[in-house]
Amino acid sequence: MIDNARPKSFDPLASLPGAPHIRTMPAPGRWIDPRPEGIYVPAADAWIDPSTPKPRALVTHGHADHARGGHGEVWATPETLAIMAARYGPQNGVPVAYGESVTMGPVEVGFVPAGHVLGSAQIVLDHGGERVVVSGDYKRRPDPTCAAFQPVPCDVFVTEATFGLPVFRHPETIDELAKIDAALLAEPDRCVLVGAYALGTAQRVIRELRDMGHVHPIYLHGALQKLCDLYVEHGVDLGDLRPAMEATKDELRGRVVMAPPSALGDRWSRRLPDPITAMASGWMRVRQRARQRQVELPIILSDHADWDELTTTIRELAPREVWVTHGREDALVHWCALHQIKARALDLVGFEDEDD
Ligand SMILES: [Zn+2]
Ligand SMILES: [Zn+2]
Repeated sequence: MIDNARPKSFDPLASLPGAPHIRTMPAPGRWIDPRPEGIYVPAADAWIDPSTPKPRALVTHGHADHARGGHGEVWATPETLAIMAARYGPQNGVPVAYGESVTMGPVEVGFVPAGHVLGSAQIVLDHGGERVVVSGDYKRRPDPTCAAFQPVPCDVFVTEATFGLPVFRHPETIDELAKIDAALLAEPDRCVLVGAYALGTAQRVIRELRDMGHVHPIYLHGALQKLCDLYVEHGVDLGDLRPAMEATKDELRGRVVMAPPSALGDRWSRRLPDPITAMASGWMRVRQRARQRQVELPIILSDHADWDELTTTIRELAPREVWVTHGREDALVHWCALHQIKARALDLVGFEDEDD
């Protein structure tokens, strides 16, 4: 029943759904079956971001709560497959590049950029004249390390809601990152230790600092090396990166050191010269979280859409229904109701506040 044809070229804007007759049809997306362990597409016999091993998985991006090991087949962008291979070893992967689509039974499946991390994709499903877009995680702000989110009008938009509360409004990226060089200027004998999520945020912070004119070597905790190398292999120039473990205390003075959030408070950081502890995350908006992690320099920066990006995206796509996967579902569902858009929270398991 499955026609695993070679990927073909795919232009999601060439055939917009939403012709007048569709508007009178019953609830859209009935051919999609959201289950606790993932979104199942019975006609394609495929699961999107399943949390348990499945014969056929369509994976939006490489974060661990979306991309698990152990599936029979993994259909994903070449970049996501490379990230999964780096984390889990070789996968039985079928690469589908941005702008390509594949046919699975009666369902046409396309991958378009989500603007979240390297290789992140929204999965566009067309079946029976209806279009469902599963965004995975996404953001709308410019990110020099990945392709920009591509809006695809659809009948059902399946969205995340990690920062789905009106209090979450991320400030300008440049203003936040300027705090790092300002801190080093003020205290040149110390270093700034930046905690950042290992896939995506860490590389984005480095690349943005380069674009802002930071030419000095940037030192890495060992846990970041592999994914930074992978970004460089995929054409993202991160400049002069060096292993922090091989540097002397004096070499690290006045420099930026990057580490995963878990390393901020542990023994590893004791070898650094009086580090100014920073953390780049959307959660740094919440003072209590910054305090819990003993972060001296909170940097509010996220690879997830903030409240305005979530609501602007829903307005722009004007879907007939919104399904909310993970995060703060209630406020977004309520906002949709206020704006006459049918919405529901999907009760998926296994997702985390991966930004933290
Ligand atoms: Zn993610
Ligand atoms: Zn996520």
